[in-house]
Amino acid sequence: MARPEIPPSLRAQMDGPAYLGPATFCKVVGITEEEELERWRPDVAVIGAPYDDSTTYRPGARFGPRAVRVANYQIPEWHLDLEVAPFEELVVVDYGDAVCPPGDVLRAHQAVYERVSQVARRGIVPAVIGGDHSITLPSATAVADAVGRGRLGVVHFDAHADTAAESFGNPLSHGTPMRRLIESGAVPGRNFVQIGLRGYWPPREVFEWMRDQGMRWHLMEEIWRLGIAEVVRRAVAEAMDGPELIYISVDIDVLDPGFAPGTGTPEPGGLSPVDLLRAIRQVALRTKVVGMDVVEVAPANDPAELTAQNANRCFMELLSALAAKRRQGQRLAALREPVEARRDR
Ligand code: MN
Ligand code: MN
Repeated sequence: MARPEIPPSLRAQMDGPAYLGPATFCKVVGITEEEELERWRPDVAVIGAPYDDSTTYRPGARFGPRAVRVANYQIPEWHLDLEVAPFEELVVVDYGDAVCPPGDVLRAHQAVYERVSQVARRGIVPAVIGGDHSITLPSATAVADAVGRGRLGVVHFDAHADTAAESFGNPLSHGTPMRRLIESGAVPGRNFVQIGLRGYWPPREVFEWMRDQGMRWHLMEEIWRLGIAEVVRRAVAEAMDGPELIYISVDIDVLDPGFAPGTGTPEPGGLSPVDLLRAIRQVALRTKVVGMDVVEVAPANDPAELTAQNANRCFMELLSALAAKRRQGQRLAALREPVEARRDR
């Protein structure tokens, strides 16, 4: 079945300047209905998870999905380092938002779980825009359930470990999702790898719990000493030590607040975008990424849209790496073909 035609006026708006037309992610086709996933057969579906009632400091990440979708001055055409046109190689759709009711964490998380499930169980990669970090619990659980529990490792970029037992009495806080994912068995503790931790939280006993689970983590201190390339190389090996599939979770506060002021719990001394974007690229090139989220973008505290732009480019690194791998696969197939044809003669 051929993919649907885009009507001419919509096509003209999508091909026009970035600031006009539908406010989907980088102006890709926007769809709303589950059956449209069947007709479009996308490689990647962007989903908004606009929920932020689990934050513990500055709120506002519920406005993140809208901001991140449009935080680009043009539609990305050509990745200069990877030499690939992501939107030519891949079919990407914007599958709208999970309908998260404010103030109801259970229903909000259920909505995220269901929408991500609809995508992940069709073998489509969900690219989820938060929302606070609590949404990683339903999102990564949906991906783990789709691919099979135990088959999924997580690479988690964050200033914070988010492995507390509870926060102000809330077990579904943005400070607890990684603990819930491990406790539930959705992700094995030893394949949960964290990059960029720093500052003054969580307390010592939480790190003891993490050690007991076999979790691995890489502090900013280690990145400062070894450099990001070596740390990513180690993190990939740890995350893939068993599982064959990876979920990437990016809390934008892994960036230094100078680059990402628009976030709920900024912690000085973080990564630069130069390093984060390459780190995501390397993880996506070296593993099979089956889901990703970027969370904690709070536009009200984001002068000059720096934070939203960085989040937008995090997704673009994933898309570009997936595109580069597909093109490489096609080249290899083309190279193999004549050899097999020769063998047949
Ligand atoms: Mn954080
Ligand atoms: Mn976080």
